[in-house]
Amino acid sequence: MATIPAIPEIATLTASESGFVLPAATIAGAPVRTQDTRDGAQNATPIFNASTGATIGWQAHADASLVDAAVRAAHAALPAWRATTAAERGKLLKKIAELIDADRARLTAMQMQVSGKPPIEADIDVSDAAATFDYYAGLCLDAHAFAPEALALPDDTVTGERFYEAVGVAALIVPWNFPMVTTAWKIAPALAAGCTVVLKPSEFTSPVEHMLAEIINEAGLPDGVVNLVNGGGEVGALLTAHPLVDKISFTGSTASGKKVMQAAAQDMKRVTLELGGKSALIVRADADIERAVTLAVGGAFTNAGQMCSATARILVHDDVYRKFMAAFETAVRAIVVGPPQSANVAMGPLVCAAQRARVQALVEQGVQAGASVAFSGSLDHACADGFFMAPMVIAEPSVDNLLWTDEVFGPVACVKSFRTDEEAITLANDTRYGLVATVVSADREAARRYKTQLRAGLVWINTPQLIFPQICWGGLGLSGIGRELGLAGLRSYQELRHALADVG
Ligand code: NAD
Repeated sequence: MATIPAIPEIATLTASESGFVLPAATIAGAPVRTQDTRDGAQNATPIFNASTGATIGWQAHADASLVDAAVRAAHAALPAWRATTAAERGKLLKKIAELIDADRARLTAMQMQVSGKPPIEADIDVSDAAATFDYYAGLCLDAHAFAPEALALPDDTVTGERFYEAVGVAALIVPWNFPMVTTAWKIAPALAAGCTVVLKPSEFTSPVEHMLAEIINEAGLPDGVVNLVNGGGEVGALLTAHPLVDKISFTGSTASGKKVMQAAAQDMKRVTLELGGKSALIVRADADIERAVTLAVGGAFTNAGQMCSATARILVHDDVYRKFMAAFETAVRAIVVGPPQSANVAMGPLVCAAQRARVQALVEQGVQAGASVAFSGSLDHACADGFFMAPMVIAEPSVDNLLWTDEVFGPVACVKSFRTDEEAITLANDTRYGLVATVVSADREAARRYKTQLRAGLVWINTPQLIFPQICWGGLGLSGIGRELGLAGLRSYQELRHALADVG
């Protein structure tokens, strides 16, 4: 059994009798502490160790004046930062990537403490964050991404040019499920584009972002280019309403995303919205069942199912349904759920008691409406105090059961059978979301047809949920607007502009 990682040091935290207290904001490189931050006070919320349920610290919340100061700091830093060359910015992004990599042990330990992620999942998050900064560092050297382009015109008395310019101050708002990752996906392209930023992490997992902010500071970014404000939805709302914010990139629930979009409309702020999902995994009759089960377990139970990309609707061809269910049951019962230090742990806890209660309530409602639990995994004594929940599989829910229609955001998967490809595609597309989908099939031609007919931003064929910074992320319908990662991720922080000039 591995040892429990100690809470890594964060320079910006202060000790208190019941754990650390994180500053309400970090503005122009300096942590800002509010006078009246006391444990349990109205303006601070607890940070838990999700595996033990213990309160390990407190996150102080920013108020309107701190949000204003952070946005003004970003606004003041904008002209100089926007005037740097892409190559200069790229050098700093490269440095951040290296520092993240060098700090891997501490960052991983913090994620394991706060979210209870198994070591391998916590480590993947750190790798993903480093790879994202590294990718955008490389893109900063790519002339196509930044250099003006001459345009061919049907009039030789004028020349035309297309060019890109940083949007301005970007408000970045992220959830708690992949704190480092969702943050890197926003900060790296925003900085590459020449935007300055104000980040609002989730109050449940903010220690990770505080560490990241320290790393960014250490890399030598000018003061005011990256600022942090902390707190819950009310702090996010203050940020999205601020008139000096030019762009909002938001990752979170569809319900909050709608509010963000309404707030953005006031000043016509640019928006990128990465929202919820209710994605499908399709197992065709010709699928390798062992592989299908591995992909189903990964798609439904990684991060304890707290994934926007969870493929929690599993569609299995009738001919292989019994075989799949038998193997799936064996695999789900074998999932070791526990704290990160448990031997062979494959699934951690949910992020907090409220999230677990929410998931359990949805399961109860779904069962009352007629869904039945086919099988579930188990919890041992190591899970006694944390926010754990055993993985659960629902068989053949009706298509209007909320467990089939709504995002559960926990370790609950539904399985339904189908007879034809058309039926599978109709069932998979019968949702207002459209984030991702997975197809498992030995027939490449058939899989290719699924790729075009499934309404999803990203389709995986016979692979786990691989994510690369080169591949854009984002969904259709209620899953959001815009794309992160890749060149489109950079473009989302740039304004497209044109100029025409006479040839003189
Ligand atoms: P949430 O919407 O409750 O909160 C997300 C973030 O937004 C938090 O920082 C929160 O404080 C802030 N916020 C809440 N209300 C706000 C408002 N009115 N204005 C501005 N900010 C506000 O979501 P959550 O529970 O933290 O995260 C889970 C959700 O995130 C799920 O629906 C999941 O699918 C989604 N998610 C999507 C992606 C994606 O890439 N599509 C990735 C991860 C998570």
